[in-house]
Amino acid sequence: MRIARFTSGDDPAYGLVDAAGERIAEISGDPLYTKIELTGATHLLEDVRLLAPVIPRSKIIGIGRNYADHAAEMGTEVPDEPLMFLVPNTAVVGPGDPVVIPEQTHEVSYEGELAVVIGRMCKDIAPEEVRAVVYGYTCANDVTARDLQRSDGQWARAKGFDTFAPLGPWIESDLDPGDLSIVTRVDGEVVQDGTTADMVHGVAALVSYASRAFTLLPGDVILTGTPAGVGPVVAGQRVEVEIEGIGVLTNPFVSR
Ligand code: MG
Repeated sequence: MRIARFTSGDDPAYGLVDAAGERIAEISGDPLYTKIELTGATHLLEDVRLLAPVIPRSKIIGIGRNYADHAAEMGTEVPDEPLMFLVPNTAVVGPGDPVVIPEQTHEVSYEGELAVVIGRMCKDIAPEEVRAVVYGYTCANDVTARDLQRSDGQWARAKGFDTFAPLGPWIESDLDPGDLSIVTRVDGEVVQDGTTADMVHGVAALVSYASRAFTLLPGDVILTGTPAGVGPVVAGQRVEVEIEGIGVLTNPFVSR
């Protein structure tokens, strides 16, 4: 299923998007917490505005340098264990929303990534148990102020500015994340072209590892790292992250 969050002018609602990506069938309540029940209302997708499919209640966990070719282009090694960082939920925006480049940075980069959405509370789970706690997958852009990432020494500000965590366009709940093409385009030009098969630590290992540090709650999001090809994006450009089996997340970049 493709689970989206949207507005048709009223309060945000959730819905199921059809395979053609043309219609959305409204559901009652938040499907993370309640059984999916259709209200009977449907909309053309072009008539609604899609919102971030999930606003994490507690946390976004980012994973750094999880593709060897990206670690190499950064002049760094792949860490022995997953390198985790936290992003505040106030950084989340939805498909089509502008990413606002703040005045504190002069070097912003896109990072196309597969995002894992947690569906059940869990702690200290084994990799074999991960499938049961994953709600689904969506596209993410782990927008990074590269200059501040270097100068700050830790990544809270560089990754955590408001609007720096676009998610969408929806959550795909039926997906094997093992070998999905992940492509990023800037103004239509392909800049990243990778596959999730090249992750150093796969989804099961990452979620298990994160759960050994943090209790994972429904709606928590884990960003699984970016393949090679990161680079600058400036105000006026548009970044698309397309993941096989999910869809395309598009965001314009603007300056403050
Ligand atoms: Mg990243």
